[in-house]
Amino acid sequence: MEAEVKLVLTDMPKPDEALLGYLLRLSQLNLYKSPKFILSLAGLKEYFIFEAESTNFTKLSIITSTNPDILKSMAYPRDDKGRYKIYNFSVPRNYIQPYNTRICPLCLKESMYIRKAWDYSLYTTCFYHGVLLIDTCPDCGKKIRWDRQNISYCPCSYNYLQSPITPVEDPYHKINSRFYFPKYPSEHERNIENHLLNCLSYDEFFSLIITISKSITILLGGKSSIFTLDNSTRHELLELVTLIFHNWPINFFEFLSWCKMSDSKKTLNNKRIAYLYRRFYFDSELLRFDFVRYAFEEYLALYWDISDFFEIKDIKIRDSCFSDGKYVSLLGACFYLNVRAESIVYFVVSGMLDFTVQEQLEIILFYKEQLYELRQRLNQAIGMKEAKEILKISNKQLMKLIDEGHITVLRSPEHDGSKKWLLCKDSVMDLSYKMKIISFIQQLFSFNPR
Ligand SMILES: [Zn+2]
Ligand SMILES: [Zn+2]
Repeated sequence: MEAEVKLVLTDMPKPDEALLGYLLRLSQLNLYKSPKFILSLAGLKEYFIFEAESTNFTKLSIITSTNPDILKSMAYPRDDKGRYKIYNFSVPRNYIQPYNTRICPLCLKESMYIRKAWDYSLYTTCFYHGVLLIDTCPDCGKKIRWDRQNISYCPCSYNYLQSPITPVEDPYHKINSRFYFPKYPSEHERNIENHLLNCLSYDEFFSLIITISKSITILLGGKSSIFTLDNSTRHELLELVTLIFHNWPINFFEFLSWCKMSDSKKTLNNKRIAYLYRRFYFDSELLRFDFVRYAFEEYLALYWDISDFFEIKDIKIRDSCFSDGKYVSLLGACFYLNVRAESIVYFVVSGMLDFTVQEQLEIILFYKEQLYELRQRLNQAIGMKEAKEILKISNKQLMKLIDEGHITVLRSPEHDGSKKWLLCKDSVMDLSYKMKIISFIQQLFSFNPR
């Protein structure tokens, strides 16, 4: 029979203590060189924290004098989708990084134990102190490992508590904190109440933020995983992505302009825009964010020559514009009427088309029904020559009627920059009818002047 080993000194885990951090604290308490020694006593490997279901916690429980259920509850259980639970979130395995750990020196100064939140790689800042977490020794430049001898000392003997502090106040820090402190009297929330991302759920927020972050690292020619970055670079990237959604959609447009400018090709074959296009329209994580696609389409309509898009083989943009729903984006309207954005602006100014602004998103949307009607009018439109023939008048007389507003101009070089004049057939026919009546009355009076 194996002799039962127990640590000479032990302590209860704190409510928000990380499991490996707890073992580090006990190891330090008992003057061991590394917490791995406790693991070896318990017959466990360090990845046991991701295998809570199949791990027997009995031995570790005896060694640490801590209830096995408590130990198990500190691990990261896997759900049936293969995701791991941390707090109330279900996340992929690489979101949790317990081996290269991060610390908040100010938290450690207050109480010397490792917080569970520091295992979570999207938790890049401390919400209690508003500072960036530290993952590297400022002195020797080595990553902080979980299996060190002392919580606050690097193996190079630098005291982490002396680390330089970097305060943070950016929107990522604020929005992120909302998920951990849902009932926190929100100084955080008040400051960002107009931020678009503030109304997203945790899952939505991170699936959007992570996907755009991945896109940016790829656009910049880097690796796709933001989880291989060090903490401060990762934070900078997440901060940048959050800023893209700030002041919506202006910053987003600037970001797209940057993508456009930084590539020599100015069509949708432009590598960066094409990459984003594929993400927004084919990436299952991003498909649910209509507002991103609407803004993307508005940008394309406003700043690109849409004739470029007709050359693309797989124009999913056009399909998506007309799939379902009551509205389409500016680009959808351009596609449907086969005109540029200038023409749409003219249709709006001249009262032929209404639009609505989606609240909060500041995105202009058009009513599909009106577009169908307007397209009918455009299809039936007639040119100057035909109008003169119908009305039996000269060019000069026709221009006068147009200037006086008796005939509706659908398109013209003067109105929307189109090459040809297109007149509304109904307004011409209507005028022709009125002119016939007038001439009939005139004839009537000439026969019988009294
Ligand atoms: Zn802190
Ligand atoms: Zn060091």
